[in-house]
Amino acid sequence: MAEGRIVKAISGFYYVKSDGEVHQCRGRGVFRKQKITPLVGDFVEYDINTPDEGYVTDVKPRKNELIRPPIANIDQAVIVSSAAKPDFNPLLLDRFLVLIESKGIRPIIFITKKDLVPDSQLEKIKKIREIYREIGYPVELISTKSEANEVNKLEGYFSDKVSVFAGQSGVGKSSLLNAINPSLELKTDDISKSLGRGKHTTRHVELIEMGGGLVADTPGFSALDFNELEASELGDCFPEIEERSIDCKFRGCLHNKEPKCAVKEAVASGEITELRYEHYLSFLDEIYSRKPRY
Ligand code: GDP
Ligand code: ZN
Repeated sequence: MAEGRIVKAISGFYYVKSDGEVHQCRGRGVFRKQKITPLVGDFVEYDINTPDEGYVTDVKPRKNELIRPPIANIDQAVIVSSAAKPDFNPLLLDRFLVLIESKGIRPIIFITKKDLVPDSQLEKIKKIREIYREIGYPVELISTKSEANEVNKLEGYFSDKVSVFAGQSGVGKSSLLNAINPSLELKTDDISKSLGRGKHTTRHVELIEMGGGLVADTPGFSALDFNELEASELGDCFPEIEERSIDCKFRGCLHNKEPKCAVKEAVASGEITELRYEHYLSFLDEIYSRKPRY
């Protein structure tokens, strides 16, 4: 019996990595009865029958899992947001942050296309960067089109972690992944993604090595609604709200109409930024109406 981690799954085969070696396995065993489908990212037990083919026999409990892309045991999600083209969108950034926080995954933020904004605009974006850094999120402002070595500073974020990339289309996720790991050759918008079939267009998920860690080679979080989130859980997805909520007078305070709310006091004193609080209220409203709004 050996133990390893699934790094790729294609048509009934699981590729299990252990001590730097990858074994091709089929599924068999108790997880079939438990109705668990092994996912990329799963820690598994497997039997090696022949040197080149084995059987996955057990799937270890997961700390989290995503449906799209199907990956388990994710440590962090890189939210990619562009400074321009498309315009920087703090509401969408907060939406991604909430979804990622709600899964118990650590978010980090990369703001791309720094080269496209004039200095005055760059100052505004740097102020926003400070807001998120103060909340505790790592934020990097970068460009894949300027100095070639600019992405080198990002590599350190990946070591010993399993990461997924998230963010709206066109913000530069593929360009970034390619810049960090040129052997990926992911299609970018420059060569229309819908045209031609490059080696990564047949969609399966694979965890690839990057900066001493593993990164999913396909962007995640295609569902952006809050259908799985309860109103009472929303505050915990805003670290600065969660931190203050222990001082609210009422247990289960939703920081909306309630009196003696420590969160509203922190907004009034400027410790919590109004923009973030407004987004909180709009998401709360959305959860109540259960209609996604983008
Ligand atoms: P994705 O949909 O998030 O994967 O975005 P892509 O990587 O396909 O990038 C969308 C477009 O933005 C492409 O035309 C890229 O060349 C361009 N792009 C990506 N990053 C940058 C950047 O840092 N600066 C500039 N000027 N363009 C970029
Ligand atoms: Zn409150």
